[in-house]
Amino acid sequence: MSQIIYIPFDQLSTERGAMKVASKENDLVVLVESQRMITGRQWHRQRLQFLISSARHFAEELASDGWQVRYLKSETTKAGLKEVLQQFPHFQLVCATPNSFRLREMLSTMNATFVENDFFLTSEDMFSLWADKQKSFTMENFYRAQRKRLNILVDNGEPVGGAWNFDADNRLAPPKQHDWGSTLTFATDDVDRQVTQELPETSWGNLDGKIWGTTRAEALQQMEHFFTHHFANFGPYEDAMPNASWSGHHSLLSPYLNNGLLSPHEVVRAALNRFADGDVPISSCEGFIRQIIGWREYINGMYWYLGYDYRDNNHLNATRKLLPLFHDAQATHMNCVKSVVSDVHEYGWTHHIPRLMVLSNLALLTGVSPQDFLDWMREVFIDAADWVMVPNVIGMATHADNGVLMTKPYASGGAYISKMGQFCKECQYDPKKRTGNDACPFTTLYWDFLDRNKEAFAKNHRMFQQMAGLRRLSDLPEVRTRAQHVLSGLSSGEV
Ligand code: SF4
Repeated sequence: MSQIIYIPFDQLSTERGAMKVASKENDLVVLVESQRMITGRQWHRQRLQFLISSARHFAEELASDGWQVRYLKSETTKAGLKEVLQQFPHFQLVCATPNSFRLREMLSTMNATFVENDFFLTSEDMFSLWADKQKSFTMENFYRAQRKRLNILVDNGEPVGGAWNFDADNRLAPPKQHDWGSTLTFATDDVDRQVTQELPETSWGNLDGKIWGTTRAEALQQMEHFFTHHFANFGPYEDAMPNASWSGHHSLLSPYLNNGLLSPHEVVRAALNRFADGDVPISSCEGFIRQIIGWREYINGMYWYLGYDYRDNNHLNATRKLLPLFHDAQATHMNCVKSVVSDVHEYGWTHHIPRLMVLSNLALLTGVSPQDFLDWMREVFIDAADWVMVPNVIGMATHADNGVLMTKPYASGGAYISKMGQFCKECQYDPKKRTGNDACPFTTLYWDFLDRNKEAFAKNHRMFQQMAGLRRLSDLPEVRTRAQHVLSGLSSGEV
């Protein structure tokens, strides 16, 4: 029987997913550009441009390679697929198991046949085997099991370099003088320009120049650029937030891994080959490998393991509306936040530390609704698939799951940002102060957050030190007063 091979915009591979079972002679490859998807939210322009242009390029490349391809613009994905099925009623609808609950459910109602999803290194069943045996879902334990299972950086059952992780080496602050190297830009073509013209007015953010490639060749170019120019320095500076570079020594590969233009298998292989060449320290290689075979697989595994309703958690009863500064960097005087939100506006990307310790930390400390914050994160980051953002925001960022994913909240005052970033010197606030008009909002809100949630954390032994610190505060009444001022000022855009 002939098949309709449906390729979602996050499975753009000729070698993986449904293309593995496709026949050039008999089958029709279908991609659907859903108007509801494009206009349904206030998406970042970089994100829309990247996803749509990559899909259109992918369809064009398949067609020029001799495949029968339909690229449909439709009101919804379902409407587009129905249209094709009406034209080819005897064809079977085939797709790789989708990467989101919603698409999986929709395609199931259309009797689609699912083929193995091999855009990850760990199947759902394999992850469940691990998770079912855990008392707590510690990423580090999963990562070590992955290293052994995949035989990566392991020698006779022992970790290469003598340790499973090199975190202690990988926490360098940004130096005053450092060569952060270059970032790639790509030439726009007619497809890119057409997509730009069609972007909806509802979209948000900057779109000057082409910093994100939209073809497999450009994704490979980005991978090569990282391994040649940044890989060796990646580890030591992976947590640093320098002023002089928006991407530091990060790979910028997550968008391509998440839309299928690159596979984790080939990225890991390339990293290990570079490491074997001998000019990359183990701290950089291990730190990078951890992101791919550890964090990425763990987050995807937990997304499915915890189920669809996990996204609705709100254990700390956080109900504040999204702060205006998340869409307007000028709506705050906090230099770190202004700088990070400007980067998001500009590139649709910042690395994991500004995401976690600036943006998410602020949402957590101010009590922004986890669901509102999740929507924003999904809309503005170029690599923000549902499976990425739901566990990251509900579990890691806002502690809305009562510690299912992370045993304690990632809450911090200004000291961490002051140490790992270069924002504080030019800020009107002082990271060391928790009271007074020039007190750092992070520092004030950190103590106020602990105070507001002291009952929720009372039995959490990992919060013991913090809660003991709170009890020792002699100026708690002043902190509470300053916190009220800061919270109302952030909501009105005056802090
Ligand atoms: Fe951010 Fe506080 Fe530093 Fe200002 S003082 S840049 S608000 S951490």
